[in-house]
Amino acid sequence: MYGYHGKALVVDLTSRIHRWDTIPEDALRSFIGGIGLGTYLLWKYCPAGADPLGPDNPLIFVSSPLVGSRLTTSSKFAVLTKSPLTGFIGDSLSSSFMATELKKTCGDALIVTGSSDTPTLMLIDRGEPQFLDASGLMGLGTGETEEAVKDLLGDRRMRVASIGPAGENLVRYASIANDGGRQAGRCGPGAVMGSKNMKAIALRGDDSPPTAQPEATRVFARDLSRRSLGPATEKYRELGTMANVSVFNRLAALPTRNFRESTFEGAERVSGEHLHQQHLEKNANCANCTIGCEKILVTNDSKVKARGRMEYESLFALGPLCGVDDPNLVIRAAAICDQLGMDTISAGVSVAWAMECFDRGIISAADTGGIDLVFGNGDALLAVLEQIGRREGIGDLLADGTKRASATVGQGSDAWAMHVKGLEMPGYEPRSLKTMALGLAVTPRGACHNRSSAYEADFSDRVDRFSVDEQRGRIAAESEDFSAVLDSLIWCKFLRKAFNDFYEESAHVYTMITGWEMSAQDLKVAGERINNLKKLFNVREGWHRSDDTLPPRALQEALPSGVAAGVGLAQEELDFMIGGYYCARGWNEDGLIPEEKLGELGLSGLLTRVASARITDQS
Ligand code: SF4
Repeated sequence: MYGYHGKALVVDLTSRIHRWDTIPEDALRSFIGGIGLGTYLLWKYCPAGADPLGPDNPLIFVSSPLVGSRLTTSSKFAVLTKSPLTGFIGDSLSSSFMATELKKTCGDALIVTGSSDTPTLMLIDRGEPQFLDASGLMGLGTGETEEAVKDLLGDRRMRVASIGPAGENLVRYASIANDGGRQAGRCGPGAVMGSKNMKAIALRGDDSPPTAQPEATRVFARDLSRRSLGPATEKYRELGTMANVSVFNRLAALPTRNFRESTFEGAERVSGEHLHQQHLEKNANCANCTIGCEKILVTNDSKVKARGRMEYESLFALGPLCGVDDPNLVIRAAAICDQLGMDTISAGVSVAWAMECFDRGIISAADTGGIDLVFGNGDALLAVLEQIGRREGIGDLLADGTKRASATVGQGSDAWAMHVKGLEMPGYEPRSLKTMALGLAVTPRGACHNRSSAYEADFSDRVDRFSVDEQRGRIAAESEDFSAVLDSLIWCKFLRKAFNDFYEESAHVYTMITGWEMSAQDLKVAGERINNLKKLFNVREGWHRSDDTLPPRALQEALPSGVAAGVGLAQEELDFMIGGYYCARGWNEDGLIPEEKLGELGLSGLLTRVASARITDQS
């Protein structure tokens, strides 16, 4: 077999038994790899109704056919699980050397089930998994854990994925970190890893599948690398995604003070331009990437030094969203989240929700242990982030995310709990980006800017971003399918504009690597199939039409400032767009997938085979 191994390593942490399961060829062709193949594996290995923090919920690390190919930006892997935040599909991407080592050690995927009695470091060193005592690592931050594991194993080139205190303490948006700070951040995979008592995984391997057409792949890779250095990626190479702060502020799309506003008077101080000029230590890149979008920032005041990666989502969530305009405090806040191992978006949105509760007198200084949790208080932000990671004080409430925290506190605080399906909102204001509003409402994993790139229409001249029309459903569905293909092959999103024809070239690459014919149309259908299977998973786990929505604030309050002053989003407008989306997907008006659609996408037969394989496994 070329490009794939055709098998997955399945490890049960309870019994410490492992086995190799075959992944059928039709599953590989149908779901490609990464997020797509992970969705198929999650459907297969996660029992219906599994407790996300229970031993039955699998934690699945998935490789892709492109990993190891030397194609620029392709050193990425996916992490799938049932999300402890949403109870629906939880999928994240991470990157760098861990991706290649995963493919060399675990076949096409590593599926971890069960739960260990004691803190465990799972080592896979060119062979069978070994289970080492990790008691001495507990309480360490993610970076410290990675270093300690490498020291313990005596190999600096060992690849390590680990959780920090947030994962150990089951913070529902805990991340898994690898390669010095890359994070599988969204949806809480770190909490699932923590629930399994698995502090870290260390990998070293040498089993790479061959490429069907190595020379042709090398030629294409050279050309793509050349294109990756052109104008299509200039933004990422220069300021990185931090460039969004100034642009979004100008467009009144920069969520500020818990989405009360969409412009921030302190935007210049936390802009990409300012941070680049005053705080940039160096540029960095994932393994095998010619773009290098990563900006390593360092504080420049007299307080304790902090350094770390910064990108737009961390910047918006820990800056404008909390009303903080001191770049040193935002850099410290991001570094705290990374070391504790938690998603900066969910962390920032949870603190912003609490700041609004404090502002309204629903949470008092007695609840915060005396912390003055007002918008703009960056020191309070730092203190509360530390408490979240350790589930101390008010942090215990916020560690469960805004949906659960607002249900606990009550008093109408769900009106400003900024999540969809339980996943906190990214930095895209839905009222001034109406196509993105639809994308945020319907995407299976909850409020997400990665699995839907519907915002691209809003930033183009294809639509009026302040109003709705009948084409938004089709645009949102197409953008989800595009993202599914990108995230399954896996290419970095920041490479997408370097393709002359994304689907044609990607299909060509797939064929060169795997030797299996794939057309542009086949790939488009694969994207649609993947999104339909995500939806099926959610339906199986209790999804209802009412889950496709936006927070009350986005539907009841008009924006107060900037070029979008007075612009709101009515429930009827959102419902109209959602109806158009279901129609574009070929779903019924309740958002459910008809049998004919499952058949058309080849899902009926495939899922029947999965069901019978499960029955065979159990008998
Ligand atoms: S563009 Fe950035 S995120 Fe993408 S692979 Fe390169 S360094 Fe990593």
